[in-house]
Amino acid sequence: PLPRPWLQHYERGVPHDFSPSGRTLPQLLEEAAAQYPERVALSFLGATTTYRALLDDARRLANALRKMGVQPGDRVSIMLPNCPQFVVSFYGALMAGATVVNTSPMYTPHELQHQLADSGSETLIMLDAFYPRYEQIRDSVPVRRVLVTGIQDALPFPKNVLYPVKARREGRWVQVKIEGQTLPLRAVLRSQAPAAPDATVSPDDVALLQYTGGTTGVPKGAMLTHRNLVANCEQARAWMTDLRGGQEVTLAAIPFFHVYGMTVAMNLSVLIGATIALVPNPRDIKMVLGEISRSGATLFPGVPTLYNAINNHPDTPRHNLTSIRACISGSAPLLLETARRFREITHGANLVEGYGLTEASPITHTNPIFGEQKVGSIGLPMPGVDAIVVDEQGQTVAPGEVGELWVAGPMVMKGYWGRPDETAQTLAQAHGLTWLKTGDMAVMDEGGFFRIVDRKKDLIIAGGFNIYPREVEEVLMMHPAVLEAAAVGVPDEYRGESVHAVVALKPGQQVSDKELMAHCRTELSPYKVPRSVEFRDELPKTAAMKILRRQLAQDARERLQKS
Ligand code: AMP
Repeated sequence: PLPRPWLQHYERGVPHDFSPSGRTLPQLLEEAAAQYPERVALSFLGATTTYRALLDDARRLANALRKMGVQPGDRVSIMLPNCPQFVVSFYGALMAGATVVNTSPMYTPHELQHQLADSGSETLIMLDAFYPRYEQIRDSVPVRRVLVTGIQDALPFPKNVLYPVKARREGRWVQVKIEGQTLPLRAVLRSQAPAAPDATVSPDDVALLQYTGGTTGVPKGAMLTHRNLVANCEQARAWMTDLRGGQEVTLAAIPFFHVYGMTVAMNLSVLIGATIALVPNPRDIKMVLGEISRSGATLFPGVPTLYNAINNHPDTPRHNLTSIRACISGSAPLLLETARRFREITHGANLVEGYGLTEASPITHTNPIFGEQKVGSIGLPMPGVDAIVVDEQGQTVAPGEVGELWVAGPMVMKGYWGRPDETAQTLAQAHGLTWLKTGDMAVMDEGGFFRIVDRKKDLIIAGGFNIYPREVEEVLMMHPAVLEAAAVGVPDEYRGESVHAVVALKPGQQVSDKELMAHCRTELSPYKVPRSVEFRDELPKTAAMKILRRQLAQDARERLQKS
């Protein structure tokens, strides 16, 4: 093997000699069902499914899909919130040898059309409430069969009867016409036996097309294999050394249709035989709080906006959150204040920051959950991850210097679906390994702890100075009246660009733009201080609850042009 000098920097504590098992995702479920058959796998608003029943349902669906003509490698799109049907559809489609295409329930008809056509999905499994959006574009996509399900299908009696009544009263009821190849998922499952399906599934088959780049450019499908996705679960398992097989309860509030929720809340739970407590709507903080108390959740993966919302919700003090032991926060920088307050309200849950991206299945770095954590750092490379920081020429820079973060390991995607050029731009060969260029600017310290400075593309350049928005946002968030903040670059005649801040205030709080700028001046060099501040009730977010910075920048630019 070639020398890997960067490894000398990784601190003790994280075992680097890690080898993935090479199992497939269906194998994980089969093993959980064999080891913990009677354990509750899914808990959904009071209804429960055991591991044995989950495996049976997934097999029934796989058999039905095979009979309908689904061939190995065919794409099956799933457009569902977190609910039992999601888990059954995901594992069922994989057992039929198909590739799952995760589909955001928030897609507009136009976005849905792009993804169904780009992925060439002939099968779509969706919630009835989303059907009207599909109807608008059904003639311009390759879909040949649609399986529909409703939330009520997964509810216990009498909620299953009451739900449609309530939905009708509130004008949310959608009656899907069952005709031709549009079938009810419930009936499809009932028509099959839970025999082992006839398809063979190999570790290097593409298990998932996960569309990404939605906030930057044309969304493209990252091809993640069974080997990639299982490896990432096993890496997380190797890192969280005290996970107890068959005893944990995972709060699944982050959506499965994003790979972070899929790996950490769903597949990792199956790997360790945990109960998955499903929350269909993570924006409903009351529902999230209620589910934590009801399920006694021990693990709670999340994103900073979610922990922050819980910290600031008026109902939080009325709930007992002490069952929560461990939380990984990913997808965006975790502010110190958010982590501190969350530890306080849970009476000491370990909330640590991690980092990852879709193309890496997704986790690559995390802070040690029981060891030393470095504030403001994304932590150490996970077991089995090689990580380097490089300059423009792809040469490794010294510890302490900023450059682009590259990662390698068993979790790195195979490439982008049908886009060899973009794949070639994103994956690089060096030091005998295949590296994923993350597009994030980072620094590694002598101990192997990494810090994300910002996204390469989010950099604001004002008067020749580089400004990383994250630094400005940290300062804005330190102001006691501020709930959420984003800093974006807007065109400026003299400086090229200047910093524009968009903030949402905590309920009942008031502060003027002048006061916020004055606050920033006490903490930041003058060129980093926002030149304008905009107030909004709430910042726009992606379905994975990430703040849509680019939309804010575009809105601000358009407004400037008009004025
Ligand atoms: P996605 O592919 O949608 O999961 O987005 C991945 C991107 O989210 C990364 O390339 C980073 O820019 C950002 N990201 C994820 N985790 C963190 C973190 N802990 N701190 C800062 N940025 C993060």
